[in-house]
Order: sequence, then C-alpha cells, then structure tokens
Amino acid sequence: MKKLKPVCIFFTVFLIFCLSNGNGYAKSKKSDTEKIKVFVSILPQAYFVERVGGSRVDVSVMVGPGQSPATYEPMPRQMVELGKAKLFFRIGVPFEDVWMDRISRAHPKLKVIDTRRGVQLFPMKTHHHHEDTQHDERGRSRKDPHIWLSLKLVKIQAKNICDALISVDGVCGEYYRENLKAFQDDLDKLDVEIAQNLKGAGVRKFMVFHPAWGYFARDYDLEQIPVEIGGKDPGAKELVNLIEDAKNDGIKIIFVQKQFSEKSAEALADAIGGKIIQIDPLAKDYLNNMKMIAETFRMAIQLP
Ligand SMILES: [Zn+2]
Repeated sequence: MKKLKPVCIFFTVFLIFCLSNGNGYAKSKKSDTEKIKVFVSILPQAYFVERVGGSRVDVSVMVGPGQSPATYEPMPRQMVELGKAKLFFRIGVPFEDVWMDRISRAHPKLKVIDTRRGVQLFPMKTHHHHEDTQHDERGRSRKDPHIWLSLKLVKIQAKNICDALISVDGVCGEYYRENLKAFQDDLDKLDVEIAQNLKGAGVRKFMVFHPAWGYFARDYDLEQIPVEIGGKDPGAKELVNLIEDAKNDGIKIIFVQKQFSEKSAEALADAIGGKIIQIDPLAKDYLNNMKMIAETFRMAIQLP
C-alpha cells in the first residue's frame, strides 16, 4: 500500500496537466519540464502539433521564418536540442532527404514520425513546355511535398500527430483526441468556406513562382502554372512561352513567396501588364493564413 500512494498522486497531477489549457499547473515551472518536447520541420506543422498537443507539448521548428525548406541546413544549436526531444514529425520537405538519417544516427532515441502516412502524393506539376522535376538534388523524380497546403490532407496529418502523441503519452489520450476533433472541425469548416468562395471564378488558372499550390489547386478545381523551372529562374525562351500562356489564359497576377527570388516573376508581370502578389505558404498562423490566401486567390482569378 505504501507504494501506491505516490503513483496515485502522480496520476492525478498528470490528469490536471492534460486538461489544463495553458493555465494553472501547466504554467508552473514544474510542468514545463513535464511537457513533451517535439520537433517539426516547418512552421505550419508547429501549429498542427500545438492544436493537437495543447498544453502538453513544447514544439521547436527546424526551418525558421524566411528560410527555405529546400536549402535549409540545421544549426549546431538545433542538433543539440534534438537530443532533448521525444518526437520528430517529418513531412517530406527537401532538407529531410539530406538530414533525417544524420539526425536519427546522432539521436537514436528520437522517434521520427512520418506525417505523410495515409496521404496520397502526386507528382510535382511542372510547366507543360518542359519535362523537368522539382525539388530534386539527386536527379530523381520527386513527388510534390507541399501537402500542408491542402486542408483535407492536414486532417490526415493531424490524425498521425495525435496517434504519435498518444503512443508516448497514453494517459492523456482523451485530451489529444478531443483537441484533434476540434482542429479537424475547424479544417472542415474552412475547407467548405473556401470551396464556396472559389466556385464562381471564371479563370481557373493561376501563375506562381514556386509551385507550392498543387494540392490546393486540386482541392478547389484550379490549375497552377509554375514560373520556376526545375527549381531555377526560367530562361529567356521559357519566359516568352510563359508570357504567351499568361496572355492566352487572361492571367494578370503572379504569386510569389518571400523564400524565393522574384526577379523573373517581376519581369513576367511587367510583360503581361499584371502584378505580383506575395503569399506565404509557410506561415505559422495556419488557419488565418489559409483564409487570407484563399481570399487573395478569389480576387486574383476573378479579374477579367
Ligand atoms: Zn516548396
């Protein structure tokens, strides 16, 4: 009997951790050390894990604001921090190809969760004048990694995150499942709203410098035309083709993102008498960002 008592106290304290949403126990110094330390590759994933893990998780991000998941290299400080983490949620962005093995070798106890499980990947959509492959440093063809930009696919990723958290913290299973449901409901709601808003648009095509919006386009029956060719600026000849396409399709807006150079996009916009608009596929404030981006798309594709 003497041994049971501390176990009971431990359990009660644990339950309070699970249920408190960032207040009470969860704010105390002690609970900080009890939090599950996890790593994710990109900022939107931090939002996903925080939605499901709530006050139970302490999330660190590999690719910081303004950095590109294609060219990123971990900092020494991050390699050390990884040693304190329990879980790593990978998603399939290019830097993982180079670094995931090294990270696992350096930290054999770190559990790497592939959040692509159950997600159907499609090939990278490239410009129709070319047979190139994107995001590939070793010359292999590559699937489109931008699965976080589909609300439908994020529902699957969130479920994978929930399962992984339960696998290391089963005592809070109910808490994680409730958070998952609330998050998935929000995703469903926004998905319906965006579909509704984009339904009436006459022009279904849009141009974007870096082709991050393939899954988004698929979800809402749009067509993405990338400006970037094989991860590089288009040459003069390709630019001429793009200008012709834009004119034929009535495209006046070219989307760019801050992680990539936009010189060719600017030149293209000048040539078609249109303009460039910056959208950020890597913002952490995920739902609000997607809502804003959908609104930007609606305006862009409804222009005459
Ligand atoms: Zn990308």
